[in-house]
Amino acid sequence: MNVYADNAATTAVSETALEVMLPMLRDLYANPSSLHSPGQRVKEELEAARHTFAKYLNAAEDREIVFTSGGSEADTQALRSAAVLGARKGKRHIVSTAFEHHAILHTLEALKKEGFEVTLLEIPPDGVITVDQVRDAIRENTCLVSVMFANNEIGTIQPIPEIGALCHEKGVLFHTDAVQAAGRLPIDVQAMHIDMLSLSAHKFHGPKGVGVLYARRNIPLTNVIYGGAQERGRRAGTENTPGICGAAAAFQESCETMEETNVHLTAMRDKLIAGLSQMPHAVLNGSAEKRLPGNVHFCFEGVEGESLLLWLDSKGISASSGSACTSGDLDPSHVLLALGRPHEVAHGSLRLTLSGDNTMEQMDYILEQVPAVVNYLRNISPVWDELEKGQRPHLI
Ligand SMILES: *Cc1c(COP(=O)(O)O)cnc(C)c1O
Repeated sequence: MNVYADNAATTAVSETALEVMLPMLRDLYANPSSLHSPGQRVKEELEAARHTFAKYLNAAEDREIVFTSGGSEADTQALRSAAVLGARKGKRHIVSTAFEHHAILHTLEALKKEGFEVTLLEIPPDGVITVDQVRDAIRENTCLVSVMFANNEIGTIQPIPEIGALCHEKGVLFHTDAVQAAGRLPIDVQAMHIDMLSLSAHKFHGPKGVGVLYARRNIPLTNVIYGGAQERGRRAGTENTPGICGAAAAFQESCETMEETNVHLTAMRDKLIAGLSQMPHAVLNGSAEKRLPGNVHFCFEGVEGESLLLWLDSKGISASSGSACTSGDLDPSHVLLALGRPHEVAHGSLRLTLSGDNTMEQMDYILEQVPAVVNYLRNISPVWDELEKGQRPHLI
């Protein structure tokens, strides 16, 4: 049996998105900046896509939507824009969290070199940041709070509306990386007091290389790509019109089918969590309740995450040990370390992320294969031998 359970890394492009994209690649290829009719026709499609995103995010105006090359670019541009605005007012302090995506963390590193101060909030054991943590971190000179909507490794959902309300009360800009939440959780930028928000199409069954930056109308953006006047001068480069229109179709579809899909996802997720929790010396990472409907993330003691992945791959199961960005890296995930898992435990991690295309039969198969592979690996592991003989203490 083949099971794709790595939907937090990327998702399959939906049929709906493909159907929108193909004619745009084949026929509607004109440049939307061209004044001729084919160009203007494509421009209409581009603006319709912008309207779709504005509508499903409840943005006040279509022009608050800027298309980028992906989530990473949207994150970078959001942070840089807030930093430039802050610096003008002498505010050079930014609050974020220790378990953000590297697109945020590495931009913050770059901003630190440019003289900004950054406070990274610690991650509570349930993987959910509290509003009090944010309140305590905000200072007179804070220009931005950036907290992700849902974490890409452990799937925990953050109290975004409450953090947004706090930021607005304090007069601080609020950005959220909503890449993992988009199409899976309802998002309302106005009700949730969100000033800037990042999305990535390939995480909700759209194509790769398309992102969205929502920025409230009165927030001037700083360019990270220079060139032509596309996107009202905020992002240069001929728009990826097939990708953008496919992304809009995928976003609309995932928003409209969200409730129904989430019932199915939650049932599959909870079946996996219940089954894997039965295994000895296994622990679920992050809150079971404040969690994305398709995210399952465990640590197994005495097992190497990489070996586990390769064995599961040989059984037809595509999973991950954390984020794709840290795989291939020998350090354990910064998210699990931030959560307080010791190095030895953090190494034995497994992330299974589901989409509406997965089935209950596949969950049964996962629940057969994961315990079998973990047992096999433990039996050949010298570390497990020491743990079992009491020569070293069990950590979970
Ligand atoms: C995937 C991801 C990104 C990066 O998006 P790309 O489109 O791949 O650049 C950023 N943030 C989070 C939380 C993600 O999961």
